[in-house]
Amino acid sequence: MRNILDLDLDELKKWIKGSGEKEFRAKQVFDWIYKGCFSFSDMKNIPESLRNKLAASFQTGIPEIVEKYKSRDDDTFKFLLKYSDGNIIETVVMQYKHGNSICVSTQIGCRMGCTFCASTLHGMVRNLTAGEILGQVLAAQKNIGGRISNVVLMGSGEPLDNFDNVTKFLDIVNSEYGLNIGQRHITLSTCGLVPKMRELADMNYQITLAVSLHAPNDEIRRQMMPVANKYSMAEILDACRYYISKTNRRITFEYSLVKGKNDSLENAEELSDILKGMLCHVNLIPVNAVVENGYSKPTQKDIAAFSAVLTRKGIETTVRREMGSDINAACGQLRRSYLDEQRGE
Ligand code: SAH
Repeated sequence: MRNILDLDLDELKKWIKGSGEKEFRAKQVFDWIYKGCFSFSDMKNIPESLRNKLAASFQTGIPEIVEKYKSRDDDTFKFLLKYSDGNIIETVVMQYKHGNSICVSTQIGCRMGCTFCASTLHGMVRNLTAGEILGQVLAAQKNIGGRISNVVLMGSGEPLDNFDNVTKFLDIVNSEYGLNIGQRHITLSTCGLVPKMRELADMNYQITLAVSLHAPNDEIRRQMMPVANKYSMAEILDACRYYISKTNRRITFEYSLVKGKNDSLENAEELSDILKGMLCHVNLIPVNAVVENGYSKPTQKDIAAFSAVLTRKGIETTVRREMGSDINAACGQLRRSYLDEQRGE
């Protein structure tokens, strides 16, 4: 049965009209759903005839919460969510003073193969639909009993490898009839699929684009990310410049620091040189050693020294605060341990 969350307002209007009812009902139905009412029979201002037709054709499918973990050291929750086909994904909610932020997954698994990332270990199972991604936000809002005001597409999966579903998700999340979350409160993170970055730029969203760079040159990048064999850093940076020229938005570069791999002062110098003059910001992430690849994070001192080089060279830099590491809140780790448990590993 179709998930009604996969429809945008125009599509629902069309469907309702086609069923012989008034199309303004579509907005009323979505008012209920995006307020957190997922049962057609509770939609009081909708005529019973339409409620019955909707119930016969659609589910209001939000994923089921299988587990919820709360971090000890901060206000981070991690949800393990199950879709109706039995597939499991993870979603993280971070509560800040200025509002609640959610990190959603865009695919079940991932096929990008980054060497440090747990999400890709078991390959990709399938794309998530727009409605399934929306379902993560709705399930989390319902559970925490509060509104989510920021969305980052940084969970499992490569958002630009699921372009149509992800852009539809962006449209609905941003729309007034949907979750009404401002585009500037949305960040999409990509490993650098160049043609899709350009396509996204052409859509003129005001969202923040985050690019997982993780290396100061192609040689190191290729050792960490297979996708670097397909697109060079020069092509990625060109696509970033294009994104900036279209949107006037500052790019965030994510750089996972791995001891002995990409964390030398020389690497920092090289990174500063290639980013010089660009409207950007670097987010240093001490790598989470999750995979059996021998990666470990640099010492605090080395991280600070790396960061200092960038700052001295005029590149705005922050070091990501590690939230929720006690609950495996990073990057596909939770789904992975869940799957391993199911397999008896
Ligand atoms: N596919 C997208 C978004 C998902 S990952 C992307 O590649 O950007 C979100 C961020 O976490 C990416 O920057 C990713 O490279 C990083 N990441 C993944 N595994 C990590 C790990 N073990 N330690 C630190 N950062 C990691």
